This record gives sequence, C-alpha cells and structure tokens, in this order.
Amino acid sequence: MNTRIMSEIPGMSRIGPVLFKAACPDCRARFELSAGALRLAIGASARTTFYSFTCPECGTAVRKPAGERIVELLTGGGVRTLRLHSTV
Ligand SMILES: [Zn+2]
Repeated sequence: MNTRIMSEIPGMSRIGPVLFKAACPDCRARFELSAGALRLAIGASARTTFYSFTCPECGTAVRKPAGERIVELLTGGGVRTLRLHSTV
C-alpha cells in the first residue's frame, strides 16, 4: 500500500494512515482527507507553493497556498510532493 509515496520521499516512512482536515471554499463542506487525496507542489517561493485536492462533496478542484508549517505537515504525512523548482 502506498509504496510509491514512500519511494518519492527518501528517508521518510509512513507510520500509519494520516488524515488531514480540509474545507472546501466552494461548497463550504468540511471533511477529512487521507494523504493520498492530497497533492503538494513546492515552488521556488512561498507564493508558488500550494497544496491541492478535489472536494469529495462537489468535485471542485481546490488549490490553496501552503506555508512552511503546512508543507512540513503534509510531507511528514506522506502526501505526494511535486517540486516545481528543479534547482534546490
Ligand atoms: Zn466542495
């Protein structure tokens, strides 16, 4: 289960299912998402760093800015991470 996530984050291993609380700005539903339902994109700056998910209630693709703490939380929880900036 989720071996791809583990392989994409070197040195990180899942210790169990992780749920993140999220809210949809469109239909205002509140729900819990597993790490697999979230995507994190890390850009060159905080302005281009965001996380995204699809609202399970209305199907809207939601994208929200991710601050340093959120990035830490999501990567630590095994969320798939996409680095938009190639030179780290
Ligand atoms: Zn929604």
